Amino acid sequence: MTSTPQHAEMDCHAISEAFLALHERDGFARLPPSSLLHDSVPMSFVMSAGLIQVENDLDTIVQSTGGKFAFTQPCFRHFDMKQVGEDPTRLSLFHMSAAFHIGSTERETVLPRLWYFLTQTLGLDKDRLWVTYLDDEEFGRDEASYQCWKALGVVEERLVGLDQQHCFWRQRSTGQIASDGKKCGPHTEVFYERDVACPACENREQPIGNCRCGRFIEISNSLFIENYIDDDGKLIPAGTVFAECVLGLERLAMILQQVTSVHDTLRFQAWRNALIPLFKHQQPADAERSIRIISDHLSAFVKLTQDGAPAPGRGGRRAIIRNLLRRTMTEVLISEVEIPHVISVMQALLSNQDAVIRLHQEYECFSRTLERGKNELSNFLALEQPIPSQTLSKFQRMYGIPVVLSQHFLTQTDWHILPAEPCRDHHDCK
Ligand SMILES: [Zn+2]
Repeated sequence: MTSTPQHAEMDCHAISEAFLALHERDGFARLPPSSLLHDSVPMSFVMSAGLIQVENDLDTIVQSTGGKFAFTQPCFRHFDMKQVGEDPTRLSLFHMSAAFHIGSTERETVLPRLWYFLTQTLGLDKDRLWVTYLDDEEFGRDEASYQCWKALGVVEERLVGLDQQHCFWRQRSTGQIASDGKKCGPHTEVFYERDVACPACENREQPIGNCRCGRFIEISNSLFIENYIDDDGKLIPAGTVFAECVLGLERLAMILQQVTSVHDTLRFQAWRNALIPLFKHQQPADAERSIRIISDHLSAFVKLTQDGAPAPGRGGRRAIIRNLLRRTMTEVLISEVEIPHVISVMQALLSNQDAVIRLHQEYECFSRTLERGKNELSNFLALEQPIPSQTLSKFQRMYGIPVVLSQHFLTQTDWHILPAEPCRDHHDCK
């Protein structure tokens, strides 16, 4: 790794500031981030730094900015929750900086600025950067990106052509820019190569970025939206074209701070310092996994609560919030760390009174769910042993007791079953 001491102190905020300042210098307007609660995703939360945040007011924004604007957006992906802790980069809540140029897809303005930012502003070693671009049987080759990267000095062997599965973006639903179809276009990604021993990556057995070992880290993606695609998959030139360049801030922070995972970056330092002592009696790998999940999920919970997310409950956003908290509590329970102690540590970390109250209420609610689930398990065990594993999944669906906790309770010789009490405060408790 090659970052200088000055770069090694850059956290997500500093990287974001540098990116936005560079764009302001080049005539881009700086816009504020949008709330994670956006009307366009009523059942969930904002998932990326796309046009979604500005699309409703796009005409006004283009008028006032000339079509050039940049912002940094927190993003939350509930479908990634289960993968948190499984690889070095996955987070449920993360931050992306994005720069848009509506009306232009000139590679010559986007890619040189990005290259300057990565190699000069952040000081990344050019010899560790790899670039992908579209080279596809159906859609052809993105010659403009290829030539631009070559002119910037990216050597042929680090310039990797990939098919439409990897380097062609298409919008899932229609939006305002091309209201008669779905926007689409080629994209080109920049990867940073780390010193991770991985034979599959070494021998290039699969496309760059597909392996989860953490050797190749995707740090940036630039999209050039030039067409829309009709229902038959035919490309039609878009009336309004645009370019978008995005950065993954936690990933860049991990590289600059020279740590092994995004969970070890400065963003999570306070969380780790508080949680590590609680898990010191666990196997190191188990403790690390729990600490990653807890710090990711609770920091997401705090941010979502600040942005106005509803209290935990059933369906849509409520269920996502409940899932964040219950997955956190499940980690604590299987680790057999003292729950009240953990709750008090969590409360100290949450720094948001609403979040503290909700955490506490959900803990009480979940405790009742678990007691009831344990009772049902016990009744079942009186009739049938050993318990089939599919029964545990059924218990999860029917009684809300996670499979991993049923398994954990079943391995306890002296697990204690308390009578389940109805939940008086929370009508939508399971
Ligand atoms: Zn690998």
